[in-house]
Amino acid sequence: MAPRIVVAGSANMDLVGLAERLPLPGETVLGDDFVMMPGGKGANQAIAAARAGGRAVFLGAIGSDSFGVTLNARLNAAGVDTAHLRTSYGASGVAVIMVDRAAENSILVAPGANSTFRDLTAAEEQVIVGGDVLLCQLEIPVETVTAACRAARAAGVRTILNAAPVRELPADLLANVDLLVVNEVEAQTITGSTSPDMSALLALVPRVVLTLGGAGSRYAERDGRDEMVPAFVVEATDTTAAGDAFTAALAVAWGEGRDLIEAVRWANAAGAACVRKLGASNALPTRAEIDEVFAS
Ligand code: ADP
Repeated sequence: MAPRIVVAGSANMDLVGLAERLPLPGETVLGDDFVMMPGGKGANQAIAAARAGGRAVFLGAIGSDSFGVTLNARLNAAGVDTAHLRTSYGASGVAVIMVDRAAENSILVAPGANSTFRDLTAAEEQVIVGGDVLLCQLEIPVETVTAACRAARAAGVRTILNAAPVRELPADLLANVDLLVVNEVEAQTITGSTSPDMSALLALVPRVVLTLGGAGSRYAERDGRDEMVPAFVVEATDTTAAGDAFTAALAVAWGEGRDLIEAVRWANAAGAACVRKLGASNALPTRAEIDEVFAS
């Protein structure tokens, strides 16, 4: 039976404007193009988990606007269980993204409904308790992430925190995280050091995965293994959502009971399969695509 991956997180509509250059403050620039894409780290990782072969359940909040309708449809179309997704009266989360021809960007995130995802209901806690793995990020109120991880831990459900976007992590959250997934910048911010300090991270949580882009990732556990897991060599087209593909695949593989080094290796294959393709949630790899890279 496929593992049940419960993702408690954000859903945003990404509004992406493309222009020759980014406007300066107070300036208007005539753009080249505009695209609208469902996103948000929570929704992306739920979709990625479903594609990677997990039974994904999404807990979060969308708004009562038309973006909410589209976000819900996107999740459902990907096979994510949205039965417990909240609709709160008002705006959905939106990311206003401007990209120039050198791929430089400016991003404004208006959290909208995501900021109303507070005070887990008994039904939501039941969903968490019924999962194999709980997967969280930091685009919803940190109190909600903490409550979700606490409920999971109390029931013996494994918890993974992808600490993005990075912020200060409260002690009662860290106490309920089994596995922390961070990139180098996030690792440095959390430990307040100029290079990723694994031992400082392991003082906070028992297991850490450090993602290193095209170099792969590093897995370390408290009083135990510390290994580099090299990346799969692919032609990188677009690194958008590689971290989401990686983290979701890691959750699925760990939920399947694979050893964590092996799970990280498979997650590297998911990240590599993602960077081969252009786009955000449409580039999230299927299980077959991950297995193909994994076997290469
Ligand atoms: P983030 O986007 O969160 O900073 P990374 O860029 O570290 O995350 O990418 C996540 C994972 O995706 C990496 O650990 C690696 O396994 C895979 N990956 C990213 N970029 C490449 C690449 N150019 N080639 C192969 N794998 C990659």
